[in-house]
Amino acid sequence: MMEAILREGLTALSLPTERIPALLRYAQLLAEKNQVMNLTAITDPAGVARLHFLDSAALLALEDFRGKRVIDVGTGAGFPGLPLKILEPSIRLTLLDAQRKRVDFLREVGADLGLEDVEYVHGRAEEFAQERREGFDLVVSRAVAALPVLAELCLPLVKPGGKFLAMKSVDTGEELNAAGRAVSLLGGRLEKPINYVISGTDIPRRLVILTKIEETPKKYPRTFAKIRKNPL
Ligand code: SAH
Repeated sequence: MMEAILREGLTALSLPTERIPALLRYAQLLAEKNQVMNLTAITDPAGVARLHFLDSAALLALEDFRGKRVIDVGTGAGFPGLPLKILEPSIRLTLLDAQRKRVDFLREVGADLGLEDVEYVHGRAEEFAQERREGFDLVVSRAVAALPVLAELCLPLVKPGGKFLAMKSVDTGEELNAAGRAVSLLGGRLEKPINYVISGTDIPRRLVILTKIEETPKKYPRTFAKIRKNPL
């Protein structure tokens, strides 16, 4: 069932199907661990295949990830970062999350699947930016925060010339307007969003792309307390 959904969805995206066994193994580890800790609210196999794996895989059809240094901010149970790495092994991936148990789970999955060039970081994006400022070609993130806050967490990590790809729902018109000022203060430029449907479904999604056109001023990111209290 899950295998058929993945085969059809990946084929429609013109992505290779030979990594399906790795995705199925990841799904199995996710289902097992989800019994003992809260990793995802989506537990039915078709939902995992579509809403986690194929939604993540959609990015590979929209952006060139080959050989890029990529960070997934607030990756949770590994989405979208881990399916991207499984399907495009040349990615040099950093998975970042503020919850230690989630990062420990991801390390187990990576070891089980024999993934190379993956860094597992327990930490907060606004603090990690002190260490690895402008260190990534691409930053990806799904379901972490509203865009004005998310931009301050993520844009400092993007190299000038790189991009931040925010996975959003289609009803983000207001959020996009609200983020304009934050994006330009942080050295970014808001591109025209890309609407798509998850492969093999009619579920609409939106990819919001911010291009980093200038270095982010050193005063950003602020502490999370300040970001939350007074979003840009
Ligand atoms: N991206 C995943 C998980 C979304 S849940 C998915 O789409 O399925 C949001 C995750 O972001 C949580 O795991 C939480 O721990 C993490 N998070 C929230 N704020 C963060 C921050 N400032 N830095 C790092 N991780 C953060």
